[in-house]
Amino acid sequence: MAQRLASLDNRGLRRSTRVFKSLPDGRCEVDGRSFASFCGSDYLGLSQDSRVIAAAQKALSEAGVGSGASAVVSGFTPQHAELVRRLAEFTGEPDALLFPTGYAANVGTLTALMGSDDVVFCDRLNHASLVDGCGHSGARFRVYRHDRLDRLERELAKSDGARRRFLVTDGVFSMDGHVAPLNDLCSLAERFDAAVVVDEAHATGVYGRHGRGVCEQVGVQDRVAVRIGTLSKALGALGGFVTGSTTLTSYILNHARTQFFSTALPPAVCAAATAAVDIVETEPSRRRRLRELAGLLRSGITDVGMSAAGDEASPIVPVVLGDVGKAVAAAAFLQEHGFLVPAIRPPTVPQGTARLRFSVSTSHQEEDIRQVVDVLRLIR
Ligand SMILES: *Cc1c(COP(=O)(O)O)cnc(C)c1O
Repeated sequence: MAQRLASLDNRGLRRSTRVFKSLPDGRCEVDGRSFASFCGSDYLGLSQDSRVIAAAQKALSEAGVGSGASAVVSGFTPQHAELVRRLAEFTGEPDALLFPTGYAANVGTLTALMGSDDVVFCDRLNHASLVDGCGHSGARFRVYRHDRLDRLERELAKSDGARRRFLVTDGVFSMDGHVAPLNDLCSLAERFDAAVVVDEAHATGVYGRHGRGVCEQVGVQDRVAVRIGTLSKALGALGGFVTGSTTLTSYILNHARTQFFSTALPPAVCAAATAAVDIVETEPSRRRRLRELAGLLRSGITDVGMSAAGDEASPIVPVVLGDVGKAVAAAAFLQEHGFLVPAIRPPTVPQGTARLRFSVSTSHQEEDIRQVVDVLRLIR
């Protein structure tokens, strides 16, 4: 173990944890020093919202801390029932099913729906939880690139021996900020009788007129078979969910091992997420503000002669630097100047594409963004 860890050290790939203390205005304290943080996925600042906190506090005093059992035993409380009802209403689907995390939702849903007679097409940039779900399902596993759908089409044409075909994609790719070409994927799926599964992790609360996600934004909600989301990012809480028909949710409830072999979410987390869904629905100005701030960062990055990857509306703003050493040095330089921006390295991203990954939040001030751009200018 020590040798392997030393080898990770040598390659600049060793990961560790640091203590982050949240401060107001998207700042945090690390080792006694205060930073502007561009690390988190709390895009709308809801993890610190007083109404979300009050909802959690009320539930804590009513229901205690832990739920004590899985949802199919005695862990499904009134707070869970209310969140399920709100998520179904919010996404415009008949029903919703909660999981302890988004990771568990993806692995559980994919392993429940797919088996060894099936074939699954998985985008090469998909989140690890989707890749793991595809891998553990036993289905024949094909990787595709969303910038080469012609190749996906050829593979689909060759897959007619399979019992069922699935196309699995992130709505917004977490390390790239691209939006999946959902219209084209849905058209291919319809031609080849495949089911589309979309993970809305980075899109819930951020994309779409009502904040429902990329499927809403692109207008493919009715063409996508399964939508999975997380409560852990823009909703500021923790947990995963799947929405769809009651047949789908009940089927997954009965077949997903990550569902019934894990304890249900704490009731206070459900109450917090319910309050966050209310805010997402009633305060669309937060989405507009997020877009403005992300746009400001993107244009600043262009002004200093660097290039920002990804969709222009995405709060994920990656700057690909290529070399691991370069990305790590740039992150360290930013940190010296008071900004926390993660360096993302392989294996999270492909070899040779190490990058800085800024996550913008409505907690940021325009001044934070101007200042971080000024520091980037010094890196060039
Ligand atoms: C973060 C993330 C997940 C996992 O969600 P958690 O609730 O943090 O477990 C799933 N999919 C994608 C695309 C993500 O970025």
